[in-house]
Amino acid sequence: MRIGIVGCAGRMGKMLVGAVLDTEGCTLAGGTERLGADALDRDLGELVGRDRVGVPVEADPKALFQRSDAVIDFTAPAATLLHAELAAQSGRVLVVGTTGMSPEDEAKLRQAAVHTAIVYAPNFSIGVNLLMALTERAAAILADDYDIEIVEMHHRHKVDAPSGTALGLGRAAALGRAVALDGVWCKSRDGHTGARTKGEIGFATLRGGDVVGDHTVMFAAEGERVELTHKASSRAVFAKGAVRAARWAAGKPPGLYTMRDVLGL
Ligand code: NAD
Repeated sequence: MRIGIVGCAGRMGKMLVGAVLDTEGCTLAGGTERLGADALDRDLGELVGRDRVGVPVEADPKALFQRSDAVIDFTAPAATLLHAELAAQSGRVLVVGTTGMSPEDEAKLRQAAVHTAIVYAPNFSIGVNLLMALTERAAAILADDYDIEIVEMHHRHKVDAPSGTALGLGRAAALGRAVALDGVWCKSRDGHTGARTKGEIGFATLRGGDVVGDHTVMFAAEGERVELTHKASSRAVFAKGAVRAARWAAGKPPGLYTMRDVLGL
């Protein structure tokens, strides 16, 4: 299977190039970067600290889609929408890990998925997807006298908050309670906010250092508290999961899939 990586010089892009090179049965179709990026024209293998592979970083995503069976995209919302259009036009599989997409952006992704298979997940690690399934189950079991709070911490460079994974965990909890997340969420608190509203799903965001991604879902009641926690210590888990998603989606009918579909959770 030929896999292309858009945004190949990013923190995740480099991990993805390495993951494709390490996966038997997969070949690296190429990688793109934005116009003006320092990495353009560099050899993809050297870019990720390996032997030369004879494939230079390019700026033209259209050519990359033509050469690939699947393309993996961990970039930024505007770039991802452009790549989704190219996936729809070319019929190639697209795996999207980009977070911070607005509801309008997500609607455009759904439109593109009418024409091809797209896997879109805020987190490609197996552990976090298990955490999502456990969160949904716990929220269904524990009534709303258990207050749900989701705490996340990421490295100092992260640009969106709360993290896509925290919002995904919120959606899983809301699903367990059979409510819509945007009707009950409280994404941040500041100043004289008044007492907590019953049934609210709260979020707290921490940023600092090189933290790859920590998430805790708390169910806090009078007299006890349940905490479900996941800590990622290497971005390699997301890259491995994204390559697994690309292989799973090959040959699937058009549609917008999640990592829970890929893992059968
Ligand atoms: P990063 O800033 O290090 O990398 C993004 C890369 O995309 C950069 O190299 C940038 O130049 C490139 N890019 C931007 N526009 C482009 C374009 N039009 N064409 C080609 N390349 C373009 O960021 P990162 O830490 O690698 O994270 C990227 C995204 O992935 C973020 O949204 C982050 O939240 C998300 N992420 C998701 C998961 C997951 O499992 N779903 C895990 C980690 C990070």
